[in-house]
Formats: sequence, structure tokens, C-alpha cells
Amino acid sequence: MSGMRVHIVTLFPEMLEGTLQASVIGRAVRNGVLEVRLHQLREFATDRHAVVDDAQYGGGPGMVMKPEPIFATVESIRENLRLEGKDAGRVVLLSPQGRLFNDRAARELAGQSVLILVCGHYEGVDERVVEHLADDEISIGDYVLTGGELPALVLLDAVARYVPGVLGSVDSARRDSFAEDMEGLLQGPVYTRPAEFRGWRVPDVLMSGDHERITAWRRERALARTRERRPDLLQ
Ligand code: SAM
Repeated sequence: MSGMRVHIVTLFPEMLEGTLQASVIGRAVRNGVLEVRLHQLREFATDRHAVVDDAQYGGGPGMVMKPEPIFATVESIRENLRLEGKDAGRVVLLSPQGRLFNDRAARELAGQSVLILVCGHYEGVDERVVEHLADDEISIGDYVLTGGELPALVLLDAVARYVPGVLGSVDSARRDSFAEDMEGLLQGPVYTRPAEFRGWRVPDVLMSGDHERITAWRRERALARTRERRPDLLQ
């Protein structure tokens, strides 16, 4: 039984395949905690040359992704979900014009059992996809990438960390930067062996075995680091 199903609608599934097999996400997929299905948009093109983009109305450089193949792909995914008795899922369009992705958005999306991620390319997707198909439009930052595949992977990775069973320990996500248990702060420094490296020592408190003092030290460091690097988070 998978914890979350993610469908990714893309022109370049090969950009996603390797990443989905590796590391933590790969293990979650193999364990069935996370199920990811890739859909080649070209298979839903309505003309025999599998054309999925066209020149934009009004003129200008760059092609725009046609609405028909995107609607057809998502509708086919939803029909199969219906036949499987699953939730219709939330359609998320990756776009630099969407709401900014952050830890809170990742936690919120992790509550969905099905996500349908749509990756744009070129000049973007026809506005009718935005208005009449997408439930959500998400940007991973104020910069423009060549396509939605990397943003989809970023979103999927951050969301998956909050899906029960994906991380080895549920505690690790809770102790990371931005997490609710961290009151939204940055995490602060972490150390491992050796206790001394090139004359630089690990802070004594971390080796004291005094858990109360360690907790207090970590919180104080987290606050100091956040104040120094991301004062905006303290608001
Ligand atoms: N013409 C668009 C604009 O000015 O807003 C940019 C299109 S961009 C070159 C092509 C595709 O890459 C987008 O449709 C989107 O799917 C994806 N993309 C690019 N930057 C992104 C970002 N910051 N966040 C999410 N998706 C992004």
C-alpha cells in the first residue's frame, strides 16, 4: 500500500528517471511508500506528428505548449484513478509565476494521497491550463528554468520527506531547518567524529551527555544563525 501516488506529466521523462531510482526517493519507491508514474505528453498529442507546442497568439519569440495534450493526459490519469477508486488528486502546475514553494507548502502537499505534477517548457503553457485545469501553480524560486522537470523533482523530494515511511526516522524531518518543531528556524551547526580535526574542536557541550544543556545549546545556535542569515524567518 503506497503512502502517496505522484503522476508527472512531462515531455522529458528521461530527466526524471535516474533521480527517482536513487537515494532516499529511490528506496521509498522500491518499498512502495511512494509511487511515481511518468506520463509522456507526446503520447496524447492530437495530431499525427505528435506536436505539443505552437507559436503564440499576438506574436513573439518562443513556442507555447498546447492545451489539448495536457488536458488529455490529466483526464486520462484521472479516469484511471477513478477506476482504481482513488482520489482525483491535486493538479500542480510548475511555473515561475506560481506561489513560492516552501516547507509549509511541502507539508501541506504531503497530506494529499495523489499529486499530478505538470511540467511546462518553452514559453510556458497555454493560459487555459492555468485557469481550467491546474488546482495549484507553484514556483520553486524567483528565477526561470528551461523546464518544469527540475522544479517537479524539487517539489517531489521535499514533499516526500513528510510522507510517513520515506525517511528512516520521522524525527529527522522535524529537526531540520524550517520545520514546525524547529519553530521555522534554521537548524544550526552539526558535528560528527573526530572530536578534533586540524585543531578545530567540537563544542564541549555536545560531548557532555547532558541532554538538557544540548537542547538549550542547539536552540540558542539555531536562533543565532537564523538572526544572522535569515532575519526574515523570525517574523
Ligand atoms: N515564459 C515564462 C515566464 O516568463 O514566466 C517562463 C517559462 S519557463 C522557460 C518554462 C517552464 O519551466 C515553465 O512553464 C515551468 O514549468 C518551468 N519553470 C521555469 N522556472 C520555474 C520556476 N522557478 N518554478 C517552477 N517552474 C519553473
